[in-house]
Amino acid sequence: MTEKVPYSTSNYPDKLIDQFGRQVDYIRLSITDRCDFRCTYCMAEEMTFLPREDVLSLEECARLVKVFVNLGVTKVRITGGEPLVRKNALWLFEEVGKLKKLKELVVTTNGSQLEKQAFSLKQAGVKRVNVSLDSLNSDRFKKITRTGELDKVLRGIQAAKQAGFDNIKLNTVLMRGTNDDEVQSLVDYAIDQEIDISFIEEMPLGEVNHARDSTFVSNAETLKTLQSKYSLVASTESTGGPARYWQVANSKTKIGFISPHSHNFCEACNRVRITCKGELYLCLGQEDKVDLMPLLRNHPNDDRPLIQAIIDSMSIKPKGHDFDLQRAKPAVVRFMSHTGG
Ligand code: SAM
Ligand code: SF4
Repeated sequence: MTEKVPYSTSNYPDKLIDQFGRQVDYIRLSITDRCDFRCTYCMAEEMTFLPREDVLSLEECARLVKVFVNLGVTKVRITGGEPLVRKNALWLFEEVGKLKKLKELVVTTNGSQLEKQAFSLKQAGVKRVNVSLDSLNSDRFKKITRTGELDKVLRGIQAAKQAGFDNIKLNTVLMRGTNDDEVQSLVDYAIDQEIDISFIEEMPLGEVNHARDSTFVSNAETLKTLQSKYSLVASTESTGGPARYWQVANSKTKIGFISPHSHNFCEACNRVRITCKGELYLCLGQEDKVDLMPLLRNHPNDDRPLIQAIIDSMSIKPKGHDFDLQRAKPAVVRFMSHTGG
């Protein structure tokens, strides 16, 4: 067996390349499993959240991000749970925002705290904000999120616009019989607000006894509906992920379609996910993971074991994933709030 040469800050590789030659330059870090909403497709009504000591501290999150950025990661998305309900989350955004080699700091939020926090997030260096919005009808919004207030989220979107982010994008999960009749009104809202919108296909994560195939709305169907109403021009933009974009002619709005069920983006996959427990998931749809928390906690002043584990993890990043609506069980029984959406 060849002896591993320990890494020091002077011989870091400056890129993370996996076994299939893909460069990982994007991390999605969940900083909490908690949330002020309980969206039906994401959480159960009664949730047991992790004890605080099992969740990475914000200092540990900052240390982890720094290590990844030194390994060539240029884009960091902070997500959750709801990242903006974590106490002092802003401190983490400020720390990450200071990293010189980082090109893009972005956040995914349900928008409930944006009215208060949008300006500070922009000041901290956040470039783009994704806001989840599944309905423009307050009763329906309440039904989907179980606890959310639509007006508060809409005010949050206005605050984000005033803060002047490079881009604001809505994320919408369409469910048949729940909000699939709002496709056009949501796009009209995005056009009016001069922001983007992405439709995410519902993923079979979480509940074991799900009836998701009856509520599932494919992006192919959504695209067809929209093409009959708007003039859409295919965009060449790609983020290395499962999104494809169309420009709405004569508007500032792009429409994205995120199709986790399709396999055709895996060969360009550039990302890994880290849960709030410090589990590094190499693929959203697979179980392959590495526990980074013990490395952070057992070596508080030495990043080398952490760096080695991250580099080694590249050899287990799978080629692709396999979601199947027809299965009795989801491919992976894991809530999005756990993995970080
Ligand atoms: N709380 C924040 C929010 O809602 O934007 C960030 C975390 S949330 C888990 C990230 C994204 O995952 C949201 O846009 C949400 O709609 C999406 N999501 C959650 N569960 C999903 C599922 N089962 N299928 C598809 N998208 C899901
Ligand atoms: Fe919370 Fe986001 Fe999950 Fe909704 S989708 S319950 S807002 S974490």
